[in-house]
Amino acid sequence: MQNQEKDIIRYFEQMDRSYFVDENKELASLDRPISIGYGQTISQPTLVLKMTLELDLFPQSSVLEIGTGSGFQTALLAAFSDTVYTVERIKALHEWAKGKLHESAFTNIHLKRGNGSLGWKENAPYDRIMVTAAASEVPAQLLEQLKNGGKMIIPIGSPHSQDLTLIEKNEQGEVTSTFIMPVVFVGLVDSED
Ligand code: SAH
Repeated sequence: MQNQEKDIIRYFEQMDRSYFVDENKELASLDRPISIGYGQTISQPTLVLKMTLELDLFPQSSVLEIGTGSGFQTALLAAFSDTVYTVERIKALHEWAKGKLHESAFTNIHLKRGNGSLGWKENAPYDRIMVTAAASEVPAQLLEQLKNGGKMIIPIGSPHSQDLTLIEKNEQGEVTSTFIMPVVFVGLVDSED
């Protein structure tokens, strides 16, 4: 498996976060979370990078992302994997990200509007799953849609503080979870807007 870490860091450093936000463009270069409207936020860039590196992408990976938001994280995932499937519950954000990602000429991103807690069954199983909203526990369907040998990054905890958690499923289908760091994400909401 090819380790893409250096290339990911290099690519990330030249990404323009302001392109993915409508307001607060002047704040986009700072290492802080920014609002993307509808009560949602993009995490600070160092956390987006950290989560991406922890996911251990490889060029052939099929990735499921839950919480498309602005599309910023989606673009980074897509640059280092084969295909990204991304699900967003808020229609306006789904449309926004679709426009931005198509404009940036990505051809390996598939976007859907819906409840990401259910995953995206049609394209499962996935090598990698990234959840960018907080859950009280790992949604069963996401775990089911993760390949043996696969990895998932997900913030698990209460609405106000979570443990960023790496879930790994080994070749026998056994699941382990590793604490990475404390984080605060907006909640994974179990319905469409
Ligand atoms: N990764 C995004 C930021 C995510 S903010 C970025 O780079 O901009 C979290 C996102 O998860 C929000 O857009 C929110 O609407 C979405 N979300 C919350 N619950 C969801 C669910 N059940 N299914 C899909 N998306 C969800």
